[in-house]
Amino acid sequence: MIRKLIKNLSQAIRKQAKQAISQDPALPVITPRSEHGISRSEISEYALKVLYRLHKNGYAAYLVGGAVREILLGKHPKDFDISTDAKPEQVKRLFRNCRIIGRRFRLAHVFFGDEVTEVATFRAASEAVHSESGMVMADNVFGTLEEDAFRRDFTINALYYNIADFSVVDFMGGMQDIKDGIVRMIGEPEIRFREDPVRILRAVRFCAKLNFKLADNLLAPMQELKCLLHNVSSARLYQELAKLFFTGHALDTYLLLKKQEMLGFLFPLTESNLVQNSYPTDKLIVQILKDTDERLAQNKTATPAFLFAALLWHAVCERAKIFSQKGKRPHEALFDAQDAILTEQTKVIGIPKMTQQTIKDIWSLQWRLEKAYQRNAFKLLSHLRFRAGLDFLIARNKIGEYTLLADFWQKFALLSDHERLEHVKKLPKLLNKKQDAIYLKNLGLLNQKK
Ligand code: ATP
Ligand code: MG
Repeated sequence: MIRKLIKNLSQAIRKQAKQAISQDPALPVITPRSEHGISRSEISEYALKVLYRLHKNGYAAYLVGGAVREILLGKHPKDFDISTDAKPEQVKRLFRNCRIIGRRFRLAHVFFGDEVTEVATFRAASEAVHSESGMVMADNVFGTLEEDAFRRDFTINALYYNIADFSVVDFMGGMQDIKDGIVRMIGEPEIRFREDPVRILRAVRFCAKLNFKLADNLLAPMQELKCLLHNVSSARLYQELAKLFFTGHALDTYLLLKKQEMLGFLFPLTESNLVQNSYPTDKLIVQILKDTDERLAQNKTATPAFLFAALLWHAVCERAKIFSQKGKRPHEALFDAQDAILTEQTKVIGIPKMTQQTIKDIWSLQWRLEKAYQRNAFKLLSHLRFRAGLDFLIARNKIGEYTLLADFWQKFALLSDHERLEHVKKLPKLLNKKQDAIYLKNLGLLNQKK
């Protein structure tokens, strides 16, 4: 009897919590196959395999999130997330090539070759554990399809493509928002941003990436609560950073972050540099982000190290200047400044050690390429990061920063070994003692070409 009473009570609490999220718990709008533009040819063959196998074994199976959104917008998604009522262990039983990951959210990863398809069991948001600021600490409670839709961030990300009949299931009005180009929060924005402040960055990201507008009720709470980004772990911010800057819309994202005065939550040193010395810092970052977007558009790779190197370059120069004014020798000042700046930055964004090393290599190469002699030119060419270092030098040259040898190296890299032997003879003329002295003097200074 008492057990039944407790059960009824907890059911009532759950129902209330659910209604608090949704003022209008309407039935979903189902768009049949003939009325939406999702073709299976746009879905990766591996994701389709997973969807079909789940379905054949009696489970509900939906493609969800970014992939559905991107296909509806006529784009070609790269990752495919699947939602199902099968529990992670049940998914694992269906796929030999499956691993269960995550502590906070248990997910199944199904591997085919080097492609990973993420399979998540429907989750409910209403029983999540919250911290004092409202942040969700644990919400690994399985739920229904409808509950799964409610716990997602934006309406455009809560569309479900049903493999059973190829329809799209929409509880939140996401189809309309896709048509109207609007990023709209599911539920009360303030509560949802408090639950997970990273959603503030995600809102910026989707606006930049999709060229969408924020819904009217989003900007004010985003501005009010952006300081909660300080509470987000550095590891999570690193993950988010990859999505912000390496999905082909880095420049737009940067401009929007700056406009919304949010850059400082990710790159405090860059922001203060922009305030003190806006022109070259901004120019270099814009140049490198443009290059990053172009590289990705051509299916080339882009390294996060390069981006960090650009965002923090002038902070390093400024710090080196301070160190050398305090009596450190130039190269010592430069190396110590690199360490100091990276130590401060990694408190905010957890840059992996290997990436940090690459960033330092790029910075150090600026110095080494500019001080090259005939005898070490070939050695520099074989440096593991030569190309990245040179590209950085070229970018600095493009924005009019004081560089001596950008043209020399650009040519040198393209020549045959035999031609290089001739080309390298030009070095002494290019880099006479006086120029060398000028460069040393300029270490840490933001010298502009006249
Ligand atoms: P992209 O195409 O850039 O990967 P995405 O929408 O797929 O965009 P993911 O980070 O891959 O973004 O997340 C997949 C889905 O998980 C999202 O579409 C959304 O439904 C849900 N999601 C992700 N992060 C959050 C979050 N912080 N809060 C609520 N839901 C989230
Ligand atoms: Mg995704």
